Amino acid sequence: TTYRSHTTFDGKKTVLSSNNSNFVKGSEGEPTLISWDDAETYFHEFGHALHFLSATVAYPTSHSGVRDYTEFQSQLLERWLTTDEVINNYLVHYKTGEPIPAELVAKIKKAATFNEGFKTTEYMASAIMDLLYHTTDPATIEPQAFEKQQLNKLGMPEEVVMRHRSTQFGHVFSSEGYSSGYYGYMWAEVLTSDAAEAFAEAPGGFYDKEVSDKLVKYLFSIRNAMAPEEAYRLFRGRDAKVEALMRDRGFPVTK
Ligand SMILES: [Zn+2]
Repeated sequence: TTYRSHTTFDGKKTVLSSNNSNFVKGSEGEPTLISWDDAETYFHEFGHALHFLSATVAYPTSHSGVRDYTEFQSQLLERWLTTDEVINNYLVHYKTGEPIPAELVAKIKKAATFNEGFKTTEYMASAIMDLLYHTTDPATIEPQAFEKQQLNKLGMPEEVVMRHRSTQFGHVFSSEGYSSGYYGYMWAEVLTSDAAEAFAEAPGGFYDKEVSDKLVKYLFSIRNAMAPEEAYRLFRGRDAKVEALMRDRGFPVTK
């Protein structure tokens, strides 16, 4: 979890941001060795911290909001974990100091696309149904028939079930904050993948100064004080493209 702008219990210091992690401590006399998952979490939370620390907005509420955007900055930071600079300096064996072998990193990256076809399909079925419930005249909806008919129309494979069937998907009707917003988690991942490609394609890669400057200027420091789509365009020079996510998840993409 990442917190921001709170005052310590002694009331003397203002903490701008703090990362609080529940990593398992090493036993007595042993170093704390964190798992790959924990390392990703660490970078993720550090992304939230950088986001808070870069804030230049006058009103704190301008720095939050917009659900699609909530996890985007932190998901993006996870991408630095597998850069050579981090691997060679930090992902080192605790006894020998040797960096993690390249083959192992390649294996981890390859395994990342495992089951993505299933996961993307079950998720999208629920996300699209959520949108359909809120864009269809409710008088015409008989939920079970509607769900079946719409899934057929989408070409939903019989072998895959929705992640959340309509009748138990609280998200759809629970509140204004959630309704028709389930797509947002995946949209945040589209932004993440597309922004990561901006770095991957830059001359300096993930350490490219120009792209980094834009990241801080348009995505980290102002957040909700500028329309997110406008800010994203200033960062990327165009709108985000879903193909970036498709590539990340191992789907065949022709363009
Ligand atoms: Zn987060």
